[in-house]
Amino acid sequence: MGRMTVQVVSGYDEVGKSAVLVEAGGKRILLDYGMKLVPKQEPVFPPPVEDVDAVLLTHAHLDHSGAIPTLFKNGRGPAIYGIDVTREYSDILLSDAIKVARIRGHSIPFGMREVRTTLSRFRYVEYGVPFRIGEVEVIPFNAGHIPGSAMYYLSYDGRSMLYTGDFNLTETRLMPRADLDIPRVDLLVMESTYAYREHPERSGQEQLLRNLVEDALKRGGSAVVAGFAIGRLVEVAMALRSRGFRGPLFLDGMAKRGLDITEAFADRVKDPDYLRYVSRGIRRVNGWNLRKRIASSRSVILTTSGMLEGGPVHFYIKRLKDDPNSSLTLTGYQIQGTEGRRLLEEGKMTLDDEEVRVEMRVTQLNFSAHASRRNLLELIREISPKTVIPMHGDATDRFAEEISERYGISAFSIGGLGEEVTI
Ligand SMILES: [Zn+2]
Ligand SMILES: [Zn+2]
Repeated sequence: MGRMTVQVVSGYDEVGKSAVLVEAGGKRILLDYGMKLVPKQEPVFPPPVEDVDAVLLTHAHLDHSGAIPTLFKNGRGPAIYGIDVTREYSDILLSDAIKVARIRGHSIPFGMREVRTTLSRFRYVEYGVPFRIGEVEVIPFNAGHIPGSAMYYLSYDGRSMLYTGDFNLTETRLMPRADLDIPRVDLLVMESTYAYREHPERSGQEQLLRNLVEDALKRGGSAVVAGFAIGRLVEVAMALRSRGFRGPLFLDGMAKRGLDITEAFADRVKDPDYLRYVSRGIRRVNGWNLRKRIASSRSVILTTSGMLEGGPVHFYIKRLKDDPNSSLTLTGYQIQGTEGRRLLEEGKMTLDDEEVRVEMRVTQLNFSAHASRRNLLELIREISPKTVIPMHGDATDRFAEEISERYGISAFSIGGLGEEVTI
């Protein structure tokens, strides 16, 4: 009987640089190959993996895709399998990673040539449609995380596994929940970002967001909303419209291209017509004239970057920082060491190498696209695997122990090249 051997190459006890290597039927298949962005420091890469035959990419976020270009050092390399929109998002995120590294003086082990090779090696796959890599059968399932996100089911000679990447079982304005109509598997390798944190109800967060925006305008100030370029800010716009906000919305930064791509692949979101409707009411900020004008006239501005590490949000904060009538809303988790985290904790941040105090009303909301703790447990119950390996979290050992006790199934965390499990 043939066997499948699985190694969690990296990303087993942290959120960042996810990489899983599956060997079966003589093929070496990488599930994601990400990099880790560390605030103010060099990005960190997973160990090199040789002789890769194929990469199954769950979605475009850099913690899953960021090391793929390093597989193409001499022009040769594996095929990359993913949902169509993942290729376009990967283009902007990988290109931006190079740009940001250059600006900060960090080294990054690939250039635009390797990014172009990566994009040229893409092969589109479809949710629910099986394909083969050698003797291994693969089926992608919708992961509900961002447009194009996929979980991969792999089977070989009667053995099977599911790798979730990032997933979400709670539907949002943008995404349907993950598809759990999946065959039973022997092994489940799953993300566990929020194993010990629960999310607040989305509806409450949406209402708070609308109130923050309306209140700033009523006071005569502007409302700046910071978020990720892909998925997040378009969901924010949808939430504001759904909650009855009718005023103009301005969109700035990388999120503009993110929205163009999302619209071009609108069938990857829950409600394509609603996406198009909301998009028609969003004004893209192109050029400094408009940027300066809206910064000084009661406006609602949705912009990157999500953790205030760079991007046009710095310009808007600089213009509005002394105005207590204006508001700045952060829409997600702020990693330790980012300017967003500092601003929340100390009320100040660094802009153009200068430390400034921000008098705007700063609020943090939670529009997470990750499975909640309840979702993680629901996935395990629904899939009902023989073995669970949690990864992509900072408490994987503890979570594995809890899964064993709760469900009486084998669960453990493994990590690093060489440590493997065979099914
Ligand atoms: Zn992600
Ligand atoms: Zn991730």
